Amino acid sequence: MSEEARLRDDICRWGSILYQRQLAHGSAGNLSMRLRDGTFLVTPTNSCLGFLKPEQISKVSAAGELLDGDPPSKESFFHLAMYEKRPKAGAIVHLHSTYAVAVSCLCHASPENVLPPLTAYHVMRVGKLPLVDYYRPGDKALAAAVGLRAQDHRSMLLANHGPIVSAESLDQAVFAYEELEETAKLFFILGERKTRPLNAAAIAEIDAAFPS
Ligand SMILES: [Zn+2]
Repeated sequence: MSEEARLRDDICRWGSILYQRQLAHGSAGNLSMRLRDGTFLVTPTNSCLGFLKPEQISKVSAAGELLDGDPPSKESFFHLAMYEKRPKAGAIVHLHSTYAVAVSCLCHASPENVLPPLTAYHVMRVGKLPLVDYYRPGDKALAAAVGLRAQDHRSMLLANHGPIVSAESLDQAVFAYEELEETAKLFFILGERKTRPLNAAAIAEIDAAFPS
């Protein structure tokens, strides 16, 4: 099986799992992967992640031109902006999952990092999570805003919208996304209680042991 055929299958398989786990609903959310030749596979516009077919997956150039498959997601332009600034990124997961979107709708005192480092796995897989200003769906200015933060951040949260998470492979990006959603859930469960996030020394130790 060719690299492209394998990656098309991976996108369909993970899309179905994310839908079954109720991290994706309706036609919201999109997945993408970078091929070795510098082109990209993206989930199609108005598609449900639970019912994707490999031949439907859109193949686009780095400039976003459709090369094969159905027309790509209207959000694919911010995936491409993130890949451009993160040359090691091989996959991106963007969903509208409930707890992460709830965090994106709060007022935040520090938009540089909007979830506390509650667990080591959050620090390892997600890292600092900056909030990107709100833009209307399809506004291309969002690509510039994402690009601005992508060099220093593998994950970010779009205000009143949802997270974008990148990693070297699609399974790693899914695991990081799920970790982010679980931390968001913990954040609301803990609520107003006095919490004890990991301190700077503990975070530095994790960053040294597991560089991103
Ligand atoms: Zn979205």
